[in-house]
Amino acid sequence: MKKECENVTLYFYGELDQEEMTAFKAHLPHCPLCQKELSFLENVQTALVPPAAPQNVVNAVLAQTKKVSFWQKIFRPALGIGAALAAGVFFLVMGPNPSQTAPDNTDWLAYVSVQSDEDFNNFAQEFEIFENEF
Ligand SMILES: [Zn+2]
Repeated sequence: MKKECENVTLYFYGELDQEEMTAFKAHLPHCPLCQKELSFLENVQTALVPPAAPQNVVNAVLAQTKKVSFWQKIFRPALGIGAALAAGVFFLVMGPNPSQTAPDNTDWLAYVSVQSDEDFNNFAQEFEIFENEF
């Protein structure tokens, strides 16, 4: 193996400087090892490139892409903006009101208290009647 043989991979990837490139190009026609290695590298690169999609598949995808109508393009963003504005207006109108105070429980407590007293008095009277009768 000659010194130029070490440069076959760099030659393949175009990484040699001008002087090395000239030397390798002069070496390649006379070196079966480098020709074999270069052919191998080309085969590997070809194998790694994915095959192109069949034209009928490309056409089907393009046809689906073009089916988005003008109104779909306009309507979706407009719907989003409209929803955002509606939500903003809703929270402006229905949001927390600083002038609102906590609900007052005193009326409810007074009502329960009066009802409890009445219930107790009714029970006491009925029990008194029961005691008197038996
Ligand atoms: Zn060589």
